[in-house]
Amino acid sequence: MTEILGHKRTILSLIWPALLVLGLVINNAPLVQAISLSEELPHRKVIVLDPGHGGHDLGAVGPSGLAEKDVTLSVARKIKEILFGAYEVHLTRNDDYNIDIEDRTAAANHYHADIFVSIHAGGGFRHQARGVVIFHHSHSTAAGSKPPQQQRDSRETYEKPVPWDYIQGVYTVKNQVLAKLVHRHLIAKLSTVDRGVRKAPCLVLRGADMPAILVEIGHLSHPSDEKELKKANVISAVAEAICKGIEDYFTKHP
Ligand SMILES: [Zn+2]
Repeated sequence: MTEILGHKRTILSLIWPALLVLGLVINNAPLVQAISLSEELPHRKVIVLDPGHGGHDLGAVGPSGLAEKDVTLSVARKIKEILFGAYEVHLTRNDDYNIDIEDRTAAANHYHADIFVSIHAGGGFRHQARGVVIFHHSHSTAAGSKPPQQQRDSRETYEKPVPWDYIQGVYTVKNQVLAKLVHRHLIAKLSTVDRGVRKAPCLVLRGADMPAILVEIGHLSHPSDEKELKKANVISAVAEAICKGIEDYFTKHP
């Protein structure tokens, strides 16, 4: 009996550590798997898209009634659909409501966006204006203008942080790269007027702490642009072109 008990103890003493190890393996399996999966997943770039206008703010309205707020939302949704999975994409508005300009910029900063793209299809100052133009922010359109503290003595430049209004100055080169790449693809894809890449004071981009551009995909106030932007295949082409520009940008600035 004692021998049997002793034998049982011997067997149990052999089995328990094995069961313990097996238990640990089983229990830790999801943990081990989760760690290895999270290590494998690369950091997805964060993109914040800003469909211009919304709600009571129609934006520009075309001769036959197409509102800018609807065109910008369609393009932003399409871009999100194309980039879904490969990138983390957020929209400043997901439906037909208006939000303040400051809140649009704040959303980009809140999500720590790698890039911020504001989408418009506005009316030109000149009634006959049409075509594609990409803006990036400049505090002043005058060439060579600098933030006031950079014009003071150099010690102040290092001791004081860049004022929020001038934060876009840090990203000027990247803004230009992003603007040119998006512009290149839009012009290649659309049969429209090329109005180039320009610097301008853009309120929505001003406080954005990342590379940021404002894309005017057309001018709804012009009948030809309105006619084009009514077509679903043109909206898709615009979205695809912007996506290609974004992808090219992240190839250059991984
Ligand atoms: Zn607009």
